[in-house]
Amino acid sequence: MASFSEMEYGKCACGGHFKNREVEIRTTVFGRAIELIGVPQGVCPVCNSSVYKAQVLECIESFIKAESIRQSH
Ligand SMILES: [Zn+2]
Repeated sequence: MASFSEMEYGKCACGGHFKNREVEIRTTVFGRAIELIGVPQGVCPVCNSSVYKAQVLECIESFIKAESIRQSH
């Protein structure tokens, strides 16, 4: 997901400006642990709320979907 590293998240509702960072996401799909590393996320340094870009969420969702399909076969 390197192409997402320069993403612009704009301003938070609190007035803070979102900063880019990369996070790890750990989730479980059908009892299988999944780890995503270097997932781009915008975080507000003022109120600490975080946002994802729509494309990133789609990536995560399709990854989880692919995992659950693989699991069901
Ligand atoms: Zn904020």
